[in-house]
Amino acid sequence: MAGRDFDEESGLSVVVENLAKPGGNSGARFRPGFILTHMSGVREPAAQEQRRKTFYLETFGCQMNVHDSEKVVGTLVQQGYRQVETVEQADLILYNTCSIRDKAEQKVFHRLADYKKLQSQGKKFGVLGCVAQQEGEKIFERAPHVSLVCGSASYRNLPQMLVQLENASGPAERAIPRAAGEVAALRDDAFVEKASDSGLRTRDLIRITGLDDRQTDKCFETEFTARTNPHRGYITIIEGCDKFCAYCIVPFTRGKERSRTSDSVLLEARQMGDLGYTEIQLLGQNVNSYKDPAGKRSFAELLAAVGEVPGIRRVRFTTSHPRDFGRDIVDAIDAVPSLCDHVHLPVQSGSTRLLDAMQRLYTREQYLERIGWIKSAKRGIAITTDVIVGFPGETESEFEQTLTLLEQVGYDGVFSFKYSPRPNTPAVTLDDAIPDQEKAYRLEVLMAKQRELQIIRNKRYLGMILEVMIEGRNEARQQWIGRTSQNKTLNFLASPQAKLEPGSYVSVLVTGSFPNSLVGECCISEQMELSVHPSSMIAP
Ligand code: SAM
Ligand code: SF4
Repeated sequence: MAGRDFDEESGLSVVVENLAKPGGNSGARFRPGFILTHMSGVREPAAQEQRRKTFYLETFGCQMNVHDSEKVVGTLVQQGYRQVETVEQADLILYNTCSIRDKAEQKVFHRLADYKKLQSQGKKFGVLGCVAQQEGEKIFERAPHVSLVCGSASYRNLPQMLVQLENASGPAERAIPRAAGEVAALRDDAFVEKASDSGLRTRDLIRITGLDDRQTDKCFETEFTARTNPHRGYITIIEGCDKFCAYCIVPFTRGKERSRTSDSVLLEARQMGDLGYTEIQLLGQNVNSYKDPAGKRSFAELLAAVGEVPGIRRVRFTTSHPRDFGRDIVDAIDAVPSLCDHVHLPVQSGSTRLLDAMQRLYTREQYLERIGWIKSAKRGIAITTDVIVGFPGETESEFEQTLTLLEQVGYDGVFSFKYSPRPNTPAVTLDDAIPDQEKAYRLEVLMAKQRELQIIRNKRYLGMILEVMIEGRNEARQQWIGRTSQNKTLNFLASPQAKLEPGSYVSVLVTGSFPNSLVGECCISEQMELSVHPSSMIAP
């Protein structure tokens, strides 16, 4: 197991215990072992550490949420908190939530109900992220033991909110201190309310809100990020969304599109390279809608520049919106070998009429044009997508068009979802809803079709040598778990003499394939020279 100790000289990092699962996850519990990047100072003696305020954080949802949580953890640690592994050990219990579909939203209310009784021990509860922004102060009515409700667009105010929370046993206060020059924005208010006439104790009714919705043009930039994986890390380059697809809650929960400067992104990438990271994933709800506020670099230029940062061997980016997907992105992948052989390009539907109803801003033909650009790249690039089935008014023949699109494109993976009506979105008022049973049926048909296609697709890799980054080991199967540049899981055997560990790169001969993974045998370690870049051996 790779780990890194505190570096006395640079004062840079702390301890790594375990690798987190890749990508976004439901209910990811952040382990209290992480690398706190950019932190200077001296580690506290253990006894002192024990006396610090403690917090527990559970994260639901996408990679953006996972990375937001890394920054929230960094902020809390910087504020003197210590992260613990269980709700029972914590003074402050936080849930970073997702509201993209109804099921995701319900999870947090179940958690809050499960632990309500712990309030009598003086524990405080906070709801962060998309459900916080969507439900706002209504959360206090539904779960009165919650003290803090904070949407992602207000995370930059967390330090002040934490101070408010700690001082909350005093008289009623209003308004958090603002940074110099910051303009007051609609609902960008954190306040503490003392409501002693309700029959509940004062401390039970602390209300602190950070609900800075679409007003802010600021990103959550922090020097303190508690990254959970020592080899690969996320960098958010653009926050929010201005696209307003008819079904989607994100523009309401994550605010308007706002990008970081490319200089700031590159500085963070270089710091990660210096700390030993080899893989960077650039994040954004629509990562390729990136617009450098300083006007220095386009998205493709930034991508290429990150790919050239010393020490960085792999760069991924997600999610790309088809409307903003230009040929220059493919040109950058062609020109810079460290840019991975993978593009995630959500289509949602294969029917132009439905795409229009969804307000997706492109037609089937325009989407296929972009697929054509990706397929014309010098290297074979794996393509994955998102699909929604059962959007209001989707006819059987329109659903069929999605199935034919799967064949036409030849996706390496599809994330498919039943349409879930979301509050405040235009689609929620459409009356031609598809019954849930029909949605479930279409989802099943689509998944079965894609499975068949993936079986055929993955067979193409048999006999090829692919480079993987090692992510872990399955002891029961005596296999190492690797990830290819195409973002495929490749489980492989290696001789016990081979000195392998998570984070190292090895070349693996593919000997078998399944619908969702490949298997193989380690053939060349990273110390041995490869005459060909492995990705160039993939059939287009
Ligand atoms: N910005 C990306 C894009 O436009 O392609 C997608 C980001 S969204 C957070 C992730 C995926 O969730 C979408 O691609 C869509 O398939 C799915 N999704 C969003 N809203 C949904 C809804 N109301 N019901 C079902 N799936 C939904
Ligand atoms: Fe949601 Fe559409 Fe924005 Fe993607 S582009 S986050 S699907 S509104």
